[in-house]
Amino acid sequence: MDAMKWRDAALDVFFPCRRCLVCDGAEAVEEGICAVCREKLRRLPEPVCAVCGKPLAGRAVCLACTMERPPYSAARCAFLYEDAARDLVRRMKFSGEFDLPARLFGREIARMVGLAGWRPEVVTCVPATARTRRERGYNQAEVLGRRVSRLLRLPFLPRALGKRSGTRSQVGLSAEERRANIAGSILPDRDAARFVGKTVLLVDDVMTTGATVEECASTFLQHGAEAVYVACAARRLYTAEDDLKREE
Ligand SMILES: [Zn+2]
Ligand SMILES: [Zn+2]
Repeated sequence: MDAMKWRDAALDVFFPCRRCLVCDGAEAVEEGICAVCREKLRRLPEPVCAVCGKPLAGRAVCLACTMERPPYSAARCAFLYEDAARDLVRRMKFSGEFDLPARLFGREIARMVGLAGWRPEVVTCVPATARTRRERGYNQAEVLGRRVSRLLRLPFLPRALGKRSGTRSQVGLSAEERRANIAGSILPDRDAARFVGKTVLLVDDVMTTGATVEECASTFLQHGAEAVYVACAARRLYTAEDDLKREE
């Protein structure tokens, strides 16, 4: 049993029922979320674009994907990035309480991959810069990816890719700025040899414009991956108006 498994087992024994990470209630708490807040986790409304997974009405592939196909084969997100899902993602990202949200999101992602009929051979995650990892103590995408790999019984490559130091956060940037900011910042890392010729499942916490996962997918393909599928916990629906609002 590896260290993470011991830790999971210990959590099950010592924290069979904790308080809800969203509302702090203690009723029917499972995987860190109570029944009421669980109801507030909204799945993405169907139908979605067959390629990028964005909700859309009346067509199989959205206009953006029709005009320029993304480098990944398909992307799907489990929940809308609002209400309880947003709170849980923030917990996972900023508070260090990543275990329980990662379990919940990990299971949803594994289920989603199964439903989509994808056949990944390895699982990996969107990289963080060394500085972010050091400051936060972990990379939430890595925690999530590890969870998904275990559920899918696939090898996990935590360092398939690296993010060049000094890359600015995408938060608060417009779609165009995001693309420019991330371009050239994702590089193959020490696990790179292990994805050559493989179909890769790339895991992240939140997908917004898709600029980051597209850059990651391009890097994978340029360095020998067979295909890339993207699975995220939550999707922030992005419109041109968001470029003006500039919130997180
Ligand atoms: Zn709650
Ligand atoms: Zn699309």
